[in-house]
Amino acid sequence: METNIEQIYSEALSDIEAASDEKSVKTLSTHYLGRKGFVTQYLKNISSLPEAERPLAGKRANEMKRGLDGAITQRLAVLAAEAEASDPGIDVTLPGRQAEAGSFHPITRITTEICEIFTRLGFSVVEGPEVESDYYNFEALNIPKHHPARDMQDTFYISPETVLRTHTSPTQPRVMEKSEPPVRIIAPGKVYRCDSDLTHTAMFHQVEGLYVDKKVSFGDLKGVLTSFIHQMFDPGISLRFRPSFFPFTEPSAEVDIKCVICRGKGCRVCSHTGWLEILGSGMVHPAVLENVGYDTDKVSGFAFGMGVERITMLKYGVDDIRKYFENDIRFLRQF
Ligand SMILES: [Zn+2]
Repeated sequence: METNIEQIYSEALSDIEAASDEKSVKTLSTHYLGRKGFVTQYLKNISSLPEAERPLAGKRANEMKRGLDGAITQRLAVLAAEAEASDPGIDVTLPGRQAEAGSFHPITRITTEICEIFTRLGFSVVEGPEVESDYYNFEALNIPKHHPARDMQDTFYISPETVLRTHTSPTQPRVMEKSEPPVRIIAPGKVYRCDSDLTHTAMFHQVEGLYVDKKVSFGDLKGVLTSFIHQMFDPGISLRFRPSFFPFTEPSAEVDIKCVICRGKGCRVCSHTGWLEILGSGMVHPAVLENVGYDTDKVSGFAFGMGVERITMLKYGVDDIRKYFENDIRFLRQF
């Protein structure tokens, strides 16, 4: 009897250890610990044993019961852990998820760079509304109604007196109306024109600058813009000031740089002239200063404006403006 029960107990422990799933473990639990299980049967038979042997046999039966309980609990825990590890929802061999780092759009990058250069030169950054009144967009800038210069800009009209601004210049009278000279501002932002082709989009970006103070001269204009171009492109780059016309400046000049693609030899980008137009500028027209109540005997100033897309195209050598607005991630990742 003694040997027999010990052997059954030992086999029971091995069976539990070998059980391959939860269901088998529970079946074994019923089989060994249930009413018909060998432990229960053994306990029932204790009364038939000689009296001296009974306490020891009872003690041993309870030890076996606890042993089997422990083995079952442990086996169930092991099986649960294995099931969790092999769940197809968690593949521990997969590489971790990579965090995608974003970056700035090339237009944003160049706008920031332009603003940083002028900030170092003492200019402050200001912004104006994109939906603008006809007055600030045209009249305050010396472009009255029926002025031929209005034909130079294809305007989106919202109402006869309200437009989508065609340039960032309206910021100039808006700031000057509210402050006394000296005024040193740089105004970046979106502008709108109703033409669209290979080299133009209906929306694009400009940066406008204005400096008004006592005795501001054309020499100051040349000094500031030369310093800007040298910082923006290359300290050794050649540039030239070419006479031009804008209604809000007099005299006016366009600024060209030596072609950054062909170094002046002549190529498709510079139309074989060796030069690239980079910005427009001039001394602020007295009518513009008078419109905001400045005394033109005491103060003078210069203004300039540039297209951010154009500068970005020249900086990065991408000559299709539409690429900047398609938001193709393969294009944007290169910056
Ligand atoms: Zn060229």
